[in-house]
Amino acid sequence: MKTILAKAALSSLAVSMLLAGCGTKGGTNTSNSASDAGAHADSQRKLQVAASFYPMYEFARQVAGDFADVTMMVPGGVEPHDWEPTPKDMALLSKADVFVYNGIVESWAEQAIASAGSGDRVEVEASAGLELGASGGEVSSDGEQEGMDPHAWLSPVLAQREVEHIRDGLSKADPAHAADYEANAKAYIAKLQQLDADYRAVLGQAKQKTFVTQHAAFGYLAREYGLTQLAISGLSPDQEPTPAQMASVVKEVKSLGISTIFFEELVDPKVAETIARETSAKTDVLNPIEGLTKDDKAQGLDYIGLMKRNLAALEKTFNA
Ligand SMILES: [Zn+2]
Repeated sequence: MKTILAKAALSSLAVSMLLAGCGTKGGTNTSNSASDAGAHADSQRKLQVAASFYPMYEFARQVAGDFADVTMMVPGGVEPHDWEPTPKDMALLSKADVFVYNGIVESWAEQAIASAGSGDRVEVEASAGLELGASGGEVSSDGEQEGMDPHAWLSPVLAQREVEHIRDGLSKADPAHAADYEANAKAYIAKLQQLDADYRAVLGQAKQKTFVTQHAAFGYLAREYGLTQLAISGLSPDQEPTPAQMASVVKEVKSLGISTIFFEELVDPKVAETIARETSAKTDVLNPIEGLTKDDKAQGLDYIGLMKRNLAALEKTFNA
């Protein structure tokens, strides 16, 4: 018994020596091992970031890297337009050092910020100051703040601005790691620039440029690449189309020879399916990236992966 314990103690000593050895390898002098010993305490004081829904979480996570803990408030497979925070979410928010939200989608944000108490928390409204507008002429403005289109994250160009705002917020809350947030943001923005270049290259060649979506989420994407979005419902998926709106979409689909009616994973596709049946069009998924489903996660998909899948879906319908 004694020898087993002694062996165990020895081997755990060996492990800790090994770990210490790994820790100093990258350093320039031995004083690094002292900061390694403090690393655990350090990690408990990591910046705490609460992000509202998936794209905000993903952008914040990319900027944060290893230097902050990011928590997502709206669960992955939940459509965020009509989500409301629970008392548990409010507790999370009041403990956070930074709150990242898109703006407009989170109609609850202003009140939540007020009741969570200000403290030292930095609020980042990622779409603030961006050139936002009302989407698509025929869209009704019910249900959304001042009829503004919130879906900035679906434009790879506006997404870069949102990442910059998040970078600035994290740096303000945690100036000691500002250079890290700067470097992480720069690396992710380079990926978004590549995504933008891919969209420009593919969509620039499309002959047919009108696409039908379930809710009006792709207005900024359409504006960026010279496309026309024809949305079945309004800025929020719960705005059911009137029979007149349905008839008008059916008419345009027929007259433009549109091959595909897009639907989205977090919303009931029955209206999209009805229009597809009436026009003999196919249905396909165009993802507004408002939540990551379990299936997306299992496939290793993230914001950029889903944006690439959307591009492939658009390319397919424009060239059908
Ligand atoms: Zn939406």
